[in-house]
Amino acid sequence: MAYEYLETNIQQIREAIDHVKRPWTHPVTLIGVTKTYEADIINASITYGIQAIGENKVQEIMRKYEDVEKGVEWHLIGHLQTNKVKYIIDKVDLIQSVDSEKLALEIEKRAAAIQKIQNILIQINIAGEDQKAGIAPEDLPALLAQIAQMPHIRVLGLMNIGLFTEDEMLLRSHFKQMRTLFETLPGYGYSNVTASHLSMGMSGDFELAVAEGATMVRVGTSIYGQRNYS
Ligand SMILES: *Cc1c(COP(=O)(O)O)cnc(C)c1O
Repeated sequence: MAYEYLETNIQQIREAIDHVKRPWTHPVTLIGVTKTYEADIINASITYGIQAIGENKVQEIMRKYEDVEKGVEWHLIGHLQTNKVKYIIDKVDLIQSVDSEKLALEIEKRAAAIQKIQNILIQINIAGEDQKAGIAPEDLPALLAQIAQMPHIRVLGLMNIGLFTEDEMLLRSHFKQMRTLFETLPGYGYSNVTASHLSMGMSGDFELAVAEGATMVRVGTSIYGQRNYS
């Protein structure tokens, strides 16, 4: 098979995750980030054990959906425009990038229409970067209070995109703050909010993220290779 290198890549990532020293025993889910890659290579990675794939664009999910093996979980990990929720509501298992009441309301409406309960994560802009997706940590209580009124949404946890930086201390402190925030979730007492998944860490920083308590890492380049955006 043409894609045998995927098996090695996936195995190396899983071993690296297993070797991380951490005070937790929870399993870490490896999400294969398949943006820009086509169904044939995605399907090969599924045969090598990838059980969930992450895409950042609605159009890409639409384009590949029918050609990818059934049974894999689809996660939306990029910014979701309100007017596009309707295209993917019947396809995605987890929307990791919810960052506004407006978006949550649209998800609630579309999920209700197909009698689905949509699992989501709330995206946090922990570094306070301008122009970046995600809510500020101090806005989390208000958003959770609003979503608590939405019976077709279940919040499973939080998501964060780490800074693009060589500064490991800074990254670590952001991941640590994410873990602390994540652990506050059960305390709100909302029946549709749980601390099941903390999604953080990508090819460049997944080991740091796991060390700081990630339950889910989103890895693209280190599995599939450099992306070609042409
Ligand atoms: C592309 C992407 C990833 C994966 O990035 P790599 O560096 O290729 O591992 C993870 N999360 C999000 C939100 C992404 O858009």
